Amino acid sequence: MSGVISTFWPAGWRWAHCCAPARAALRCAGPGGRFGLAGAAPVGRLAGMSMDHELQKHYALLLGIGSPWEVKAVALKLAEKRVEIELGWQWGSDAKCPECGRVCSIHDSAPERTWRHLDTMQFITVIRARTPRANCPEHGVKTMTVPWAAPQGRFTLHFERFALEVLLACANVQAGCALLGIGWETGHEIMKRAVARGLERRQLDQLKHLGMDEKSFKRGQSYITLLTDLEQSRVLAVVEDRTREAAGQLWDTLSPEQKAAVEAVAVDMWEPFIQTIQTQVPDADVVHDKFHVSKYLNEAVDKVRRQEHKELLAQGDETLKGSRQLWLYNPQNFSPAQAAEFAALKDLQLKVARAWAAKELFTKFWQYQEAGWARRFFKDWFGWVSRSRLKPMIAVARMLKRHLENLLTYLKHHITNAVTEGLNSKIQSLKSAARGFRNFKNYRTRILFFCGKLDLYPL
Ligand SMILES: [Zn+2]
Repeated sequence: MSGVISTFWPAGWRWAHCCAPARAALRCAGPGGRFGLAGAAPVGRLAGMSMDHELQKHYALLLGIGSPWEVKAVALKLAEKRVEIELGWQWGSDAKCPECGRVCSIHDSAPERTWRHLDTMQFITVIRARTPRANCPEHGVKTMTVPWAAPQGRFTLHFERFALEVLLACANVQAGCALLGIGWETGHEIMKRAVARGLERRQLDQLKHLGMDEKSFKRGQSYITLLTDLEQSRVLAVVEDRTREAAGQLWDTLSPEQKAAVEAVAVDMWEPFIQTIQTQVPDADVVHDKFHVSKYLNEAVDKVRRQEHKELLAQGDETLKGSRQLWLYNPQNFSPAQAAEFAALKDLQLKVARAWAAKELFTKFWQYQEAGWARRFFKDWFGWVSRSRLKPMIAVARMLKRHLENLLTYLKHHITNAVTEGLNSKIQSLKSAARGFRNFKNYRTRILFFCGKLDLYPL
């Protein structure tokens, strides 16, 4: 932007600003007046014409427009705070068919259209033109493409690029649109086009470690499922729901070659996801995410605490009151006071202390280099928990045993869904900024726009 501003004003315009008679001429012209009005004494007709010419030349340079397009006129509409640049096609030049590129004769011109361009200082700047229609022997009469905008686009490519930069920087789309002076719908259309462009250009030849995870959508039991690229921290695809069919659709976005390259997929122990991975990428390892495992263990510890706290309270014992966080935090993050409190609690003969110890011990599982050693460790751990008489812990231990093979794969791939979780929280903030999404398509566009790492720009 700064470059545009610093080199923007053509010599003629500066001259007009310095010269009182010219200023008077402009005032006379009022809203809609052209620069360098002919006949405005003492500037004179010739001076006016050359000023017009200079101005047109400058605008052509600034726009990067060359033959056979030319700037025909520049109108400054002071009251509307608007600059209108009229472009024209030079008479006698041939047109190109937009379908096949063949040089054809001109049939006629399409009706006049306007495109919003980057602002001229505080003035909205608009390009106006009638585009020639080529008469192609093969494709018939077709409106030519213009070098400054995408077909059907209402903005120039420069404006669209700038709009994308603003929207990306804002995260809050409403705020971005307000800065750009465009409506929400228009901002959304720009993002939608950018996502489509980005998906078309996207290269997916190095997919190795992927992640699958669910995310809440609307209130209640409403979900979306994400497929993520763990290596490049990006969302690859989003579908509505978390069923087997929905998860299957995610994989349909990849080609057979891309699927064949996938070595492992980090996923929660959600059966429909596991089944889809086994069917769609049978050669890839399923890796159960260690963060999910520790979430299950933490929940079990908390259940044990709640039960025990209730039993103790019935006897008037308040030992466990306010201790919830202590059993869930990583002891390494304790404050000195918390550490002292926890050390005292840990030594009491409490059920929750045993549950906590089982949870802490399990972290060792992830540190083994060899699957054989990890398997032996798990057997011991499982036996110990089974004998603990702590029902919530036993339930989680059994679940882990059922999925043991897909826990051991972690030792080979060392992948987790931490990346996906990170993207999840980014998505959460998009959702909050938008105050939720009613429409899945809009939600998907927003996710891929901000988290897809796509090449979004038109130029
Ligand atoms: Zn053609």
